[in-house]
Amino acid sequence: MESLDNPAIVVIDMLDDFVTGNLRVERAARIIEPLVQLLDVARRKGIPVIYSNDAHYPEDFEITRKWGVHAIKGSPGAQIIHELRPVKNDFIVEKRTYSGFYETGLDSLLRSLHGGKGVGTLILCGLHTDICVRHTSADAFFRGYKLVIVEDGVEALTQEAHKKGLEYLRDVYSAEIRSVKEITQEFRETRPIS
Ligand code: ZN
Repeated sequence: MESLDNPAIVVIDMLDDFVTGNLRVERAARIIEPLVQLLDVARRKGIPVIYSNDAHYPEDFEITRKWGVHAIKGSPGAQIIHELRPVKNDFIVEKRTYSGFYETGLDSLLRSLHGGKGVGTLILCGLHTDICVRHTSADAFFRGYKLVIVEDGVEALTQEAHKKGLEYLRDVYSAEIRSVKEITQEFRETRPIS
C-alpha cells in the first residue's frame, strides 16, 4: 500500500439536507459512524480536515435546473450534521456546484497546508460517490493530487450509483479505494506522535 504523503481529508456535503432534509437518502446514515472514527484519528494525528459544503443561492443552476431547493446558504439544511460537527482548526470551504474546487478557495488552501509544502494526497469522503465526490476527484486529478476514496465513507442515491461511482474513480483518476480501518491504521503507524 502506497503511503499517504502530506494527506488532508475532505468531507463533502455531509449536510442536514442530504442526510435528513430535502435531498435525504437513507443510505447516507451508514457512513456517519465510520466518518466519526476517521475524523477523530485524523485530528489526533494533526491531519487537516476540510469540509467542502454546498452553500447555494436560490438562483444557482443546480437548483433551478436540476435538484430543486437544497443547502441554501445560511439555512438549517446547509448545516453540517451534528455528528460530524467541525472542531477548532478544521476548515470549511463553501461551494456552489458539484466540485469542491470550482470557483472556491480549496486549491490555494491545500497548497498552504503542511507548513507550506502543500497537500499531496486528498482523502475524499461524504456524498455522493458519483456526483460531488466524482467532480471533486476530477478537479483534484487535473491539479496533480493523489486520491484516496474512503470506501465505507462515501455513499450515493442507489447501490448501483455508488458501485459504478467507485469503479469510475478508480479507473479514470487512479483513486485508491480504502476502508476507514486501513486509513486509520496507516495514520497510526506513520504518525506516532500524539
Ligand atoms: Zn448542491
